[in-house]
Amino acid sequence: MGVPLRQQLTVAKYLLKQKIFGVKRYPLVLMLEPLFRCNLACAGCGKIDYPDEILNRRLSVEESLQAVDECGAPIVSIAGGEPLLHKELPEIVRGIIERKKYVYLCTNALLLKKRIDDYQPSPFLTLSIHLDGNRDRHDASVCQTGVFDRAVEAVEMAIARGFRVTINCTLFQGESPEEVAEFLDHTKRLGVEGVTIAPGFSYEHAPQQNIFIRMRDSKELFRKVFKLGRGRGWRLNHSGLYLDFLAGNQSYNCTPWGNPTRNIFGWQKPCYLLVDEGYAPSFRALMDETPWHKYGNSKNPKCANCMAHCGYEASAVEDAMHRPWKAAWVALFGPKTTGDMAPEPKPEYETEAPGSVPVKVRPATRIEAVE
Ligand code: SF4
Ligand code: SF4
Repeated sequence: MGVPLRQQLTVAKYLLKQKIFGVKRYPLVLMLEPLFRCNLACAGCGKIDYPDEILNRRLSVEESLQAVDECGAPIVSIAGGEPLLHKELPEIVRGIIERKKYVYLCTNALLLKKRIDDYQPSPFLTLSIHLDGNRDRHDASVCQTGVFDRAVEAVEMAIARGFRVTINCTLFQGESPEEVAEFLDHTKRLGVEGVTIAPGFSYEHAPQQNIFIRMRDSKELFRKVFKLGRGRGWRLNHSGLYLDFLAGNQSYNCTPWGNPTRNIFGWQKPCYLLVDEGYAPSFRALMDETPWHKYGNSKNPKCANCMAHCGYEASAVEDAMHRPWKAAWVALFGPKTTGDMAPEPKPEYETEAPGSVPVKVRPATRIEAVE
């Protein structure tokens, strides 16, 4: 694991506090989206499909810091859009660091060289650079040639200046395990602290719809990647049990409250991936009013293929707290890459058979709950 011990201890202390006070639903990472405007137009993006009047809106410094205070999560991930386009972002980042929260500033890195002097290296600040694979793969994913090279240059510059740097990688259709393994080798050579990796969520509003990997194929892909990764010393910024989930060895219920989202519209229900589900006016209202039981792989067709960390990393962490021996086993031996997979969630909602005749699917057998 690449996450520094100091940060791990802060998170462990926070989790323990939630347990001691019997909090059933608590946030682990606040997803702060202070704007939707971006300087790229990636094929799989579900954030930039808004009219100009929305893309021109920003969360103010005050609104952003109020969200951090309301939520109380120990980690804040600033995403967008492209956060570096936000003129007041340095002030927002400073304010979060002053609150001793760990900030992950997600960026496609195109503006990083220009804006780097606005930030100081800090144990509380990590630059999380968007790279969806090796040169050809990433440039195809962001629909622009040359972006990979500029991002890698920015990574090298940020590391040389003493910043914590991670890579944020999303996998799409057509990936080969060897390609992914080569990419992870490359990130190791670059010297980044870690890589977050997940299959792309099939956003309804993404410009291209045929690029997302189905759940079973994602699990097969991750099994092959993890098999190739034995002994290669990759640093993946995830809990061991989340990686085990990606490899198809765990059946988790989604816990989207672990990763609540605040953007220009309010607090997004239930997570940053689903649009059109509504917004709450405050963090408390989000936690109290969201019909959480309606979301997750088996509960909602929009969630059917989702394996995103915003839904399942918190589930894995919760599982590790209840079954530390299982987490220790995976930490020691890595995710299982052969044999049967954990059962796929069976849909509890109505699906449509070919010919559009509605079919009622029988209720699913309950998958392992980790609440
Ligand atoms: S995926 Fe990220 S970098 Fe690409 S268009 Fe969307 S916000 Fe911008
Ligand atoms: S499964 Fe959970 S994280 Fe994924 S889209 Fe549905 S609510 Fe969001």
